[in-house]
Amino acid sequence: MNIFFVGTGGGRVNLIAQLRSTGGFMLNGSLKVYVDPGPGALYGSKQHKIDLSKIDILVVTHNHIDHYNDAEVLMEAMSGYALQKKGVLVASKSVLEGGGKYDLSISRYHQEKMQQVITGVAGQRNSVLCNGKSAAFSFTPVRHDDETGFGFVLSMDGQKIGYTSDGEYFEGLGEYFKGCDYLIVNNLKAEEDCIPDHMDSGGAIKLLKEAQPKTAIISHFGMKLISSMPELEAQKISAKSGVKTIAARDGMAVGGGEGMESKKSLLDYVKDEDEVF
Ligand SMILES: [Zn+2]
Ligand SMILES: [Zn+2]
Repeated sequence: MNIFFVGTGGGRVNLIAQLRSTGGFMLNGSLKVYVDPGPGALYGSKQHKIDLSKIDILVVTHNHIDHYNDAEVLMEAMSGYALQKKGVLVASKSVLEGGGKYDLSISRYHQEKMQQVITGVAGQRNSVLCNGKSAAFSFTPVRHDDETGFGFVLSMDGQKIGYTSDGEYFEGLGEYFKGCDYLIVNNLKAEEDCIPDHMDSGGAIKLLKEAQPKTAIISHFGMKLISSMPELEAQKISAKSGVKTIAARDGMAVGGGEGMESKKSLLDYVKDEDEVF
């Protein structure tokens, strides 16, 4: 299995500036799982030759635009141009139904194009079976503005990948991520720039000391951290936590296994289009 980062940016300023893409990332194992497709997911996928029609599971962890913006268009690709009922959507209650200050962020029309829709709830587990292959999600809690949001630990192909999603550190968060091969941390800010509701490097250090993953990957950087080199921040986190930490970059693949490159050319898409319309 490998992890492919389409976009590694987060934060309100970078969201508009797109210094780093906000396209989210993919887990490529026996099932293809796309996580948090913010603005740039569609364009980045084209850039990196990702065949979106091959995505089995789409995960949208919460109702913030840097996580859901391109979800519907990805679902059109997953469901054969929205002509079939295909694919699995895993999303928070706020994304699927709205509630409180949120409207739903994926239309009912698109939700109905999926073969299965799963509401991710912190503390629960769900197994997904697609074409005879399986992946198991264990949803983790977040302390973030969208209270129905979640992080997860995904078990697939004998590996465990953890993802914090957005949210600040709280005592005990690391317990949920014990035993991970990789832990992806949405580390918006540097250690000295603590910000409520989001993870900064100080929180990441505490989290990693508790969780002890084999490797940590920091991503979802805010503008200030992007300008001050996330690689240096990763070095600091490694030194202080004792956990090997790397900084994600747009277009970076981590881990072995099947490659990302799609064999499908633009011409193939044009051919598909001819068949469909
Ligand atoms: Zn975010
Ligand atoms: Zn958020």
